[in-house]
Amino acid sequence: MIPDVVVIGGGIVGCSCAYYLAKAGVKVHLLERGSIGSGASKAGMCHLVTWHEPEIHLQLGREAVKLYEELSHEVAIDIEFRKTGSIAFFENKESLDSNKQMVQSLHEWGIKCQFLEADELIKFEPALSSDLAGGVYYAEDAQVNPLYATLAMAIAARQMGAKIETSAEVVDMELNPKNNTIETIITKSGRITPGLVVIAAGAWSGLLGEKIGLKIPISPRKGHLIVTAPMPENLFRVKTILSAGYLESVKAGNNIAVAVNVEQTKNGNLLIGSSRQFVGFDRSVDPKVISLMAERTLHVFPFLKQVNAIRTWTGFRPYTPDLTPIIGEVDAFPNLYLASGHEGLGITEGPVTGKLISQLITGGRMDINIDSLSLNRFSS
Ligand SMILES: Cc1cc2nc3c(=O)[nH]c(=O)nc-3n(C[C@H](O)[C@H](O)[C@H](O)COP(=O)(O)OP(=O)(O)OC[C@H]3O[C@@H](n4cnc5c(N)ncnc54)[C@H](O)[C@@H]3O)c2cc1C
Repeated sequence: MIPDVVVIGGGIVGCSCAYYLAKAGVKVHLLERGSIGSGASKAGMCHLVTWHEPEIHLQLGREAVKLYEELSHEVAIDIEFRKTGSIAFFENKESLDSNKQMVQSLHEWGIKCQFLEADELIKFEPALSSDLAGGVYYAEDAQVNPLYATLAMAIAARQMGAKIETSAEVVDMELNPKNNTIETIITKSGRITPGLVVIAAGAWSGLLGEKIGLKIPISPRKGHLIVTAPMPENLFRVKTILSAGYLESVKAGNNIAVAVNVEQTKNGNLLIGSSRQFVGFDRSVDPKVISLMAERTLHVFPFLKQVNAIRTWTGFRPYTPDLTPIIGEVDAFPNLYLASGHEGLGITEGPVTGKLISQLITGGRMDINIDSLSLNRFSS
């Protein structure tokens, strides 16, 4: 018999774990400090990315789109899943030349992508500035509303019997000294005896690890976003357009990195992103970062000067040093699982992570081999 599972964190990853575990018949209790989705999952954009290297992300991304399509039929809320495709553009010839090899290798991986020279790009997406060097169209990318998807899975998990507890911050965990299992989880309102525990607390997962003396190398990587008033549906042919330099910004070190990324939601609003910085858990919106993002975006889409921005916000991506998530068991703590550290791909990879955790716990066949995602990779 599978023991009861306590999931810590009610973001897209924790709610996906709860959803797939409940679907497999496991008794689940999810603990969320604030409200469902109140961490990075309500701050993210809507892009489901199928072409992010290395190979493990390609596997997760491809599975992710399939799962979201299934989910869109399974849950009661419209999660705004749609197959939109995406364009990654090159701002200059050097960027175009240096990315040709990557596009070739993605082709070999079976990713549907089409290289576009400068003139082809402008014909393909007339909204783009004419001085770009070219781009790539990724046919299989999609969109989802991240908050709706998170809420939908929490609600569906609850309907299948999961207990979803909000305003329930985990303040401590106690170990059984005999076998190092987590014996008690302490929240502000009580004590819980878990069978198994899944830490899915996003950027805060490292802090939870500290409570039991476990080093989980996850830190907050802040991102800003600008939201505009709703725009006409035919503004762009492709609803997700980003700079191919986005990948460099992901890999950038300590400096602030900004890469143009414009996504039109089903509602018509534009989400304009995004930035990356390491500033701890400082949530404040920095007007300098917003100006930099606006300036870069207007260079690529000059006509957006006329559009009103209505909101700005920030969120904390759960960053790991190798930019891949940590998913799996933890050798030193026999009843503990980790599901966190997805950095800028957590909306994409949330459901697939939840399904993999459920398969791991129930002893089912794994859709993807996750050996390379083990925490052990950091031990050396
Ligand atoms: C600006 C921006 C744009 C992005 N765009 C995209 C995109 O287009 N596509 C994409 O795939 N990804 C995107 N991302 C990344 C994505 O948002 C994250 O990777 C994802 O939301 C992480 O989900 P999570 O469930 O791991 O973490 P979170 O959503 O942060 O959830 C963790 C939860 O744990 C809770 N918690 C923490 N500590 C405790 C505790 N002690 N007790 C109980 N609960 C606790 C928190 O309150 C929080 O709700 C973006 C991120 C940002 C910031």
